[in-house]
Amino acid sequence: MANREIHVLVVGGSWAGVTAVNELLGLSHVAYSRLHVTLVEQRTHYFHRTGVIRGLVDQKYADKMFIPYQRLFMDGNKPSPHHRLVCAKLTHIYEHSIEVEGGERIFYDYLIIATGAAYTSLPVTQSIDEKECREKYQKMRNAIEAARSILFVGGGAVGVGMCCEIAEMHPKKLLMLAHARDRLLNEDLSDNFSNTAEVHMKKMGIDLILGETVLSASIHDDDDDHSTLTHDEWVVKPQIVHTKSGRRIPCDLVIWTTGARPITDFMNSLLPSNEKHPLVDVNSGQINVRPTLQLADLRYPYIFAVGDVNSLPFTEKYAPNAVLQAKHAVSNLRELMNESYDYRIKVSPTMAAEATASAQLAPYVGTRNTQVVVALGKSNEISSTILAKLSSWAGGSHRGRKYLLDKAEKMLNV
Ligand SMILES: Cc1cc2nc3c(=O)[nH]c(=O)nc-3n(C[C@H](O)[C@H](O)[C@H](O)COP(=O)(O)OP(=O)(O)OC[C@H]3O[C@@H](n4cnc5c(N)ncnc54)[C@H](O)[C@@H]3O)c2cc1C
Repeated sequence: MANREIHVLVVGGSWAGVTAVNELLGLSHVAYSRLHVTLVEQRTHYFHRTGVIRGLVDQKYADKMFIPYQRLFMDGNKPSPHHRLVCAKLTHIYEHSIEVEGGERIFYDYLIIATGAAYTSLPVTQSIDEKECREKYQKMRNAIEAARSILFVGGGAVGVGMCCEIAEMHPKKLLMLAHARDRLLNEDLSDNFSNTAEVHMKKMGIDLILGETVLSASIHDDDDDHSTLTHDEWVVKPQIVHTKSGRRIPCDLVIWTTGARPITDFMNSLLPSNEKHPLVDVNSGQINVRPTLQLADLRYPYIFAVGDVNSLPFTEKYAPNAVLQAKHAVSNLRELMNESYDYRIKVSPTMAAEATASAQLAPYVGTRNTQVVVALGKSNEISSTILAKLSSWAGGSHRGRKYLLDKAEKMLNV
């Protein structure tokens, strides 16, 4: 390995980013003493968004969802001198530096992008300040409490899970779930899986509206107020929601659980080798990666993208997969470091491609059989495989859903 300092920047401090940091810190303890690891995260704290559903109905759980990052970089009782957390929003990426809000530039040899995806329709996930985040969360809880009838739009795992948690907590509310497809959940899950969810939800008294596309804005149901409401407002007010086929659905609150969008606006400052092959996919908004999890553009072999932000299929958009990808990316990054290739000097696409080839990086194969568990309330769930069921039980699901909170605490050294 090169006898120079190597700076690795990781942007995004959640499943993918924190795992990458932990892996890199592990390397710095064994053989790479001149490795400097920096995590850039816009939030002042880790927010456990994987547990948003549970925290909506369980205040004690919600209080545990905010975890400080400080322990991540502790070396015994002292903060590590080589590694650091920069609490700032990434605004631009350049060839060997990034810029964060406020204008600070940070140099890097290697970059791992793990900025995930934004759910604008879940207001709590939009705040980066802990106080504001708690307030927004409380407002969401108040809205659920106040509404007598709620329409959920989107029958993926988040919509189904959230609807069931609320149905269990508030059995007297009228709950409806509209989904554009004729069956619940995503295509990667079997018909049997979605039928079981359907039967269970109906038993809970949830009104399923399948095969109906909800139009994006609903209209206040007041005589004197015909303004429209957007997805990201959890406003409790009698309103009428329209579907594409002309159906009108009256309710007090609409909760959209669709529309996750990868966070990649900072990519605009990085030039692709060829304008015909953009770094970010125009339709999905995801960062194009090759199987090694490096950017697809051969000019940037020293930049990786992992987790919800990259172009791997949606069967990969789960927390455990983000973890596996991050481990894989760091393992490949290690191979590049071993090649002693200094990308600061040689950045021609041909030379970069040659260096990557000689480092023999491994392709990420992912999980062929994703172990999906969808919670249907606190004590019920459906599992895609027997293995998923067993590991869910081993993880203590029968004691109340944790939504991986224990795993997040472990990852952050709590
Ligand atoms: C409501 C809900 C429930 C879910 N339930 C489950 C479940 O039960 N099981 C499961 O496996 N998966 C679940 N998921 C999916 C899972 O949460 C994601 O797959 C996982 O969080 C992806 O991790 P990530 O690290 O790629 O990105 P994210 O978790 O999205 O994290 C991205 C991080 O990057 C930071 N960031 C973003 N932009 C910037 C910037 N410009 N500058 C600095 N920092 C930035 C963000 O603040 C955030 O900390 C759920 C998702 C949601 C929304």
